[in-house]
Amino acid sequence: MTGGAGFIGSHLTEALLADGHHVSVIDDLSTGRVENLAAAGPSARLTTHWTSILEDDRLQDLIDEVDVVYHLAAAVGVRLILEKPVETIETNIVGTDRVLRCAAKGQKKVLIASTSEVYGKNENTPLKEDDDGVLGPTSKSRWSYACAKAIDEFLGLAYVKSRGLPVAIVRYFNTIGPRQTGRYGMVVPRFVQQALAGRPITVYGDGNQTRSFTDVVDAVGATLAVSRHPAAIGEVFNVGSGHEITINRLAAIVKEMTASRSEIVHVPYAQAYESGFEDPQKRVPDVTKLRTVIGYSAGIELHASLQRVIDFYRT
Ligand code: UDP
Repeated sequence: MTGGAGFIGSHLTEALLADGHHVSVIDDLSTGRVENLAAAGPSARLTTHWTSILEDDRLQDLIDEVDVVYHLAAAVGVRLILEKPVETIETNIVGTDRVLRCAAKGQKKVLIASTSEVYGKNENTPLKEDDDGVLGPTSKSRWSYACAKAIDEFLGLAYVKSRGLPVAIVRYFNTIGPRQTGRYGMVVPRFVQQALAGRPITVYGDGNQTRSFTDVVDAVGATLAVSRHPAAIGEVFNVGSGHEITINRLAAIVKEMTASRSEIVHVPYAQAYESGFEDPQKRVPDVTKLRTVIGYSAGIELHASLQRVIDFYRT
């Protein structure tokens, strides 16, 4: 499990341990946290390596020992991408390249975690896996993330085609849940923390942009199902709920659920991020492929997810 101390990686690690598997985690703790694995361990079936997939000489040995590689290590979060453009591109491209090279030596199955960001500015509703990625200019760093993750997908699919490596890809749509941090931009933990602290809830832009949030339990369930399904090899799957909500509405729900006195304020993108910042106005997945090929449907409703995030930040 690369990125096993991260938000989704730690939940996936926990689920695999609960199923009786042995999990070997590699994480450089750049955005992941040792504490994220507290609920999973200590377990004799969990080993941890706090190093980077970019540098660790043991990566080949670690991958040789396992049956499946879950590749979740990545630089994520709009804020992080804008603040550390070189590091994020390197991590996302070179990291995946190294993981695939090592996996190819022993023909290990690889599950690559990708993102709805690869659709870029395509606002088709809903977005299907073979829809176009519409990226903005290279002068806007945000799109480097979409581009790097698209390269990861291209590379994974190329290994399937030309090396026969069993690779499957999941594209997560705005996954939320306990342990997600707001430090790198993610909206739900930010709104919840702002509401609980009585600070202004910062809606960027006019707040009419929409997203489709996915509970991490569903993201993990879908990831495990994809990684175990023979028909998933060489395929890409949207992972999401398909339920669309505006960011204005999200702010109002968080305020209500936390009984917060916070004021909801609108912050121009130029102030929140940088001038000329481009924010996709819509991002809703078509989840037909996940349901029909894999037999998985996300079932956790937004209020239930938000409650778990609120409880997490309260304690
Ligand atoms: N957003 C917001 N306030 C915040 C952080 C984010 O209004 O404090 C908005 C952001 O502009 C975007 C949406 O919430 O429209 C989701 O942002 P996030 O960074 O969580 O995900 P992504 O943009 O990658 O889908």
